[in-house]
Amino acid sequence: MTDEVNTYGKGTIAVQGTYQPEQGGTRVLPLYQSTTYAYETADDTAALFNLQAAGHLYSRISNPTVASFEEKIALLEGGVAAVATASGMAAILNSILNIAQAGDTILSSNQIYGGTTNLFTANLPKFGIKTKFFDQNASAEEIIALADETTKLVFAETVSNPSIEVLDFEKISKVAKVLDLPLIIDSSLTGPALINPLELGADIVVHSTSKYIDGHASAVGGIVVDGGKFNWENGKFPELVEPDESYHGVRYVADFGKGAYATKLRVQLVRDLGNIQNPFNAYLTNLGSETLDLRCQKHSSNALSVAEWLSQQEAVTFVKYPGLKTDSQYERGQKYLPKGASGMVSFGVKGGADAAKAFIDQLDLIKLVTHCADIRSSVIHPASTTHRQLSAEQQAASGVTEELIRLSVGIEEPADIIGDIAQSLAKLS
Ligand code: PLP
Repeated sequence: MTDEVNTYGKGTIAVQGTYQPEQGGTRVLPLYQSTTYAYETADDTAALFNLQAAGHLYSRISNPTVASFEEKIALLEGGVAAVATASGMAAILNSILNIAQAGDTILSSNQIYGGTTNLFTANLPKFGIKTKFFDQNASAEEIIALADETTKLVFAETVSNPSIEVLDFEKISKVAKVLDLPLIIDSSLTGPALINPLELGADIVVHSTSKYIDGHASAVGGIVVDGGKFNWENGKFPELVEPDESYHGVRYVADFGKGAYATKLRVQLVRDLGNIQNPFNAYLTNLGSETLDLRCQKHSSNALSVAEWLSQQEAVTFVKYPGLKTDSQYERGQKYLPKGASGMVSFGVKGGADAAKAFIDQLDLIKLVTHCADIRSSVIHPASTTHRQLSAEQQAASGVTEELIRLSVGIEEPADIIGDIAQSLAKLS
């Protein structure tokens, strides 16, 4: 990273990143589509293996295209380092396995993406890690009371998928601070152009880069950003402090200081799990991220127009959008998302689940897809799709009702998005 780029605003960093072309070099970040890298001497590679020299050894651990993308996202989030992963799920998994092991527990909000709930309830227990879920509207004291000496972290989303509740950062970061545990925030549905959780008390930020960061629905990916401020020497995280025998005795905090968490995640976990982001996806995602600032402004203004229009329709039973003055989350939205509340809107129509599905089937411009947060408006019925694997209690806890429709408002002309919704609503009556 160069200090020069560091002084620019985030809108500029998104466009130009840290990539600096050489004399006559490509202006656009090049795609280094290579598994491996050549060196002159055995000592050169030994220095890299010993983490004494910077450079790339093998693309399962790092790659120049991926590295440039990682540096950009780290800068945009205000972190010290980032590790890009194969998917958002891989980012979440890695962020947890990096500091929790068999016998440990984690605390998580229950208002999270259904796939994450599934990871926490079906697969983390196979690693011996249990999740205690909390209602993010509970008091700080109630949440704190769930923790014990086995608890290693607190997890939540900036804006929950699909219930569209804005996290009370003041309260949740207080919980983490009182417990002296790192706060991991999934900011996939907001992205670094709208909110920077590290400035609001988070210690680690994870993204499904498949969402707003790519923005074009062209590449699945994830990223873990290390805020570099958590004190790993508080006695709860010996793996970061004591020598790592799987890496010839490296001591992450002593040897890498503020970048300890990200370094361990890369050289130990990603090395062994093999879930790094591939260079082509990093190339595509980086390209997409160049317009992040512009897109998120337009997503937010379009979503506000759509939410305002929806809230005036007879056939609509409720609308959830933090930018709406009538929304229960409005104040919190203004506090934490002053630049815009993203393109995610949830609402219900009269007639429950059947009407919700009929509404979706009759849309034309807005496509039914298992995705969100890209430039094209899209829609899904979470109860029968993304959150279907959850029990009725888990669905209710995560705010998924049978009638809920999740709309991801794109950057098309707002009149066309509203026009499509209007024609489908009209057919319901
Ligand atoms: N986190 C959130 C909030 C999501 O909405 C998703 C996917 O929809 C994920 C994580 C998982 O990301 P990915 O699909 O890139 O694995």
